[in-house]
Amino acid sequence: MKKLMAANWKMYKTAGEARTTAASLAALTADSLPDDREVVLFPQFTALSPVADALRHAAGYSVGGQDVYPAAEGAYTGEISPGMLMDCGCARVLTGHSERRHIIGESDELVGAKTAFSINAGLKVVLCIGETIEEREAGRLGEVLERQLATGLAGVKGDAVPDAIAVAYEPVWAIGTGKVAGPPEIVEAHALVRQLLVARYGQPGNAVRILYGGSVKPENAREIIALDNVDGVLVGGASLQADSFSRIILA
Ligand code: PEP
Repeated sequence: MKKLMAANWKMYKTAGEARTTAASLAALTADSLPDDREVVLFPQFTALSPVADALRHAAGYSVGGQDVYPAAEGAYTGEISPGMLMDCGCARVLTGHSERRHIIGESDELVGAKTAFSINAGLKVVLCIGETIEEREAGRLGEVLERQLATGLAGVKGDAVPDAIAVAYEPVWAIGTGKVAGPPEIVEAHALVRQLLVARYGQPGNAVRILYGGSVKPENAREIIALDNVDGVLVGGASLQADSFSRIILA
């Protein structure tokens, strides 16, 4: 299984800046990308086409949207459809990122609708799940992951597994805070996600990639991606500079 090294650029970078960073990243890593690694960049919407263009000759690289709306088209002001993302060169999309759940107020059900609709439209999805610090301290880790996974995957049929879906475990308390979850915490949560995927889909659940996200940096990436059931990373802050993300990709 190839490790998926994902960059979430959030609401940073103009289209020109994103294109420059993507081109620098490809120059630093494309020739030395190991066979067991794949890279996906999630820039903001106006940068999708320029970034896809900058990566067109970089084998093993793809582009994805940070969000999507579960309809082909219609009167949904400000939203974007899977077809529109694909038209800009996207192969993937993120759903359920904690900033969308907790800042924008997306429900588990909307995340599930976005996930299923995107897969049916032909995009691959990285579904993000993770507990808040209050939920963890109340001993509710298992319950939260089970609920977010069950609702997030409600419309995803077995034939979409494992190729069309990856799950990113991102403890909310570790995102953008500099607090990385320790190896025991990551291993415990990833084992639980694996168990839930296998319970839901049987053997193919073993081949669904589970990414870790939360303050991954060049200094800790190697240790994290070597852990059991860690099949890649989703990186925010440390992915914004080509130099730093290239060290994570090649860690
Ligand atoms: C993220 O945005 O998904 C993320 C993990 O951010 P950071 O790496 O900055 O914690």
